[in-house]
Amino acid sequence: MTPRRVGLFGGTFDPIHHGHLAIAEEVRVSLELNEMFFIPAGHPPHKPGRVITPVEQRLAMLELAIATNPHFSISLVEVDRPGPSYLVDTLHILREQWGNEIELYFVVGWDSLEELHTWYNPLGILAQLTFLVAVARPGYVEENEYNKQLEARLPGITQRLLVVQAPRLDISSTELRRRVASGKPIKYQVPDAVESYIFQHNLYQTGQ
Ligand code: ATP
Ligand code: MG
Repeated sequence: MTPRRVGLFGGTFDPIHHGHLAIAEEVRVSLELNEMFFIPAGHPPHKPGRVITPVEQRLAMLELAIATNPHFSISLVEVDRPGPSYLVDTLHILREQWGNEIELYFVVGWDSLEELHTWYNPLGILAQLTFLVAVARPGYVEENEYNKQLEARLPGITQRLLVVQAPRLDISSTELRRRVASGKPIKYQVPDAVESYIFQHNLYQTGQ
């Protein structure tokens, strides 16, 4: 029996945008994954000092955004547990739930790939993944030369790394929050339903 191939895509998703959705679908199709789980962070350890939108609202936007894709789902594994959401613990919990036969592909944008060595127990993260899947992100250089630097910071990473070519959409949640606060449009950068939700709930008025 061929093992189940599952994509995991972690993020704060504050808010989810078309950059996230386009790369998730590209990775899912190009690596022939059975499904893609979006894993919203409960208490992101990388974002101290910023007020994060309550998880209920980030989740509501995620649900609206993925509703039209039968291969996308949400995992509550991080939001359901207190304290900082360390990926190494999340993977451990998922492996306990799903068993070791399953293939796990964790998707990161290039900015997250560059920071991975600063995450808690990065070697423990790599050890539990079938592959780490990186996609380019506008504003971040992904030259081959970079592999050497990645390897120097995190030995073994290049063996576990797949780089997937995906649409390069220069969209970020930080910029979207700023746009809302300054009255600029976000239409076509997020799904229509997410845009409506943001305005109905007066999110991001301060642009934080
Ligand atoms: P913020 O500005 O709040 O950090 P973000 O747009 O970076 O938001 P996150 O929720 O932090 O979104 O990102 C989740 C994952 O998606 C990360 O691995 C990030 O690198 C990746 N990602 C986000 N936007 C893009 C994009 N436009 N292209 C490629 N990767 C992206
Ligand atoms: Mg980010």
